[in-house]
Amino acid sequence: MKHLILAVDIILDLWTRRLPADQLTLVDQLLFANTKPQDCKCWIVTGNLSLLEYEAIQEFKTQDRPQQTVLLEVKTLLKQLIAATDQITSYGFEQADFIGVAIDIETAQLVKAATNLHGDIAILTNRQSVAVLGVNTLTPLQVFDWLKNPESQTKSTLNFIDLATQQDIIRTPLERCITSVLKHGQYILGPEIIQLESKLAEYVGTKYCITASSGTDTLLMAMLALGIGPGDEVITSTFTFIATGEMIALLGAIPVFIDIDPQTYNIDPAKIELAITPKTKAIVPVSLYGQCADMDAINTIADKYSLPVIEDAAQSFGATYKGRKSCSLSTIGSTSFFPSKPLGAYGDGGALFTNDDNSAKLLREIRVHGQNRRYHHPRLGINGRFDTLQAAVVLAKLDYFADEVQQRHAKGSKYTSMFNVTCPDVITPYIAPYNTSVYAQYTIQLMNRDSVANKLNALGIPTAIHYPIPLNQQPVFSSVGIATDTPIANAVAGKVLSLPMHPYLVEKDIIKIVNALRQYC
Ligand SMILES: *Cc1c(COP(=O)(O)O)cnc(C)c1O
Repeated sequence: MKHLILAVDIILDLWTRRLPADQLTLVDQLLFANTKPQDCKCWIVTGNLSLLEYEAIQEFKTQDRPQQTVLLEVKTLLKQLIAATDQITSYGFEQADFIGVAIDIETAQLVKAATNLHGDIAILTNRQSVAVLGVNTLTPLQVFDWLKNPESQTKSTLNFIDLATQQDIIRTPLERCITSVLKHGQYILGPEIIQLESKLAEYVGTKYCITASSGTDTLLMAMLALGIGPGDEVITSTFTFIATGEMIALLGAIPVFIDIDPQTYNIDPAKIELAITPKTKAIVPVSLYGQCADMDAINTIADKYSLPVIEDAAQSFGATYKGRKSCSLSTIGSTSFFPSKPLGAYGDGGALFTNDDNSAKLLREIRVHGQNRRYHHPRLGINGRFDTLQAAVVLAKLDYFADEVQQRHAKGSKYTSMFNVTCPDVITPYIAPYNTSVYAQYTIQLMNRDSVANKLNALGIPTAIHYPIPLNQQPVFSSVGIATDTPIANAVAGKVLSLPMHPYLVEKDIIKIVNALRQYC
């Protein structure tokens, strides 16, 4: 993404209409909604606003115009400018560090704000002094060539997940949300937690949302709430991240690892019933890579044996199953806000979802050491609270999430259609007809996976393997788990390869990745 920061001199030139007419038109185009360039954001630095206001008043003041009129006029212009741009803060400490270096504080603010953004950054100004400080400057005449040029250094590095571009997009609300926490100081279970839980419950369509300290802790808390303990058997998928099996075993329960469906990589419902014994206490399907397990089939079996179901939806937040949202499909839904998950914080976090009054009450108690009133503990719990600052980050991202989910669908489909045309031997993700995937991972299967991964990495294309070893093969579970026969998971673990995937992946990069892969398969 490109970022253009407007300096005070240019805005004044624009407001006084003293630029040559052709340049005025150019700058106007940057700011009007319907002529704004597509992949360039226009910024103003908040610290610059007071200087801008002051200078504008000086310029507009004449003998015969009352001060009041001028002040109003400038206010209106400032309001319009703020509405037409994004705003970025340059912090006091940054300016203080820079005062000796920059020619003036306005310049220090501009340059420092620029370094808080990512991508292709330029400052629009006619003042030459700014350029000296290592930031690209453009005059109005140069800006349109710059906009037409492909992005420079930025996209030569291809990210597996691109949180920097997202940060630029959410920058203004992000600053607002974080600052609000610094201001009120309620760091533990503050108002952002309550606000986020209500928004998430509404998004998912459940009665309750209980945020928590991580996606691992949400699994632990869900099982604690359901009373799972030593000797109980819990049925889960063998093909998942360690946390799913780990939390079962940590409670002294026995993970029963089931094989997966060869197309969706999710637990095979047909194999669940065979594994049920009198000791079975719960089923924990995982909605892997961003698409839900076949929850109706799983719930039908669970109902038959009166078992609760916990959906491990750490990778599928935002996905739908038969039109319903992931996390709303079972007794308890559990998700993660690990930064690289579809909805990520800037640290650890997670959330639980349920429609059951009693489960919600227990989960809230378990989150604070099993406490039901101050220093009164009827049960064991953990310190499982989500942090207020992290809740502020997720709140800032939530307004963009629906659009990001759309982008994920688009990027996933683009990959798949390109692979199907150019290298039909690559096994692309199969999305069940009743599902939409959020592509937490875009994962293909290849016969020569490891050598292809090495070659892609050498070309600067990052890849990952989710997961190289099914859980029933992990050393830790050789003594504590029960493995059923898992030939499918064993086979796919040697072939799966995850490619770069995020909402801001550009088509050019998808083409580059597909073309690189085409040579090797
Ligand atoms: C990421 C993940 C977890 C754990 O979430 P954390 O927030 O990292 O603790 C659990 N299960 C699955 C399937 C995951 O992908």
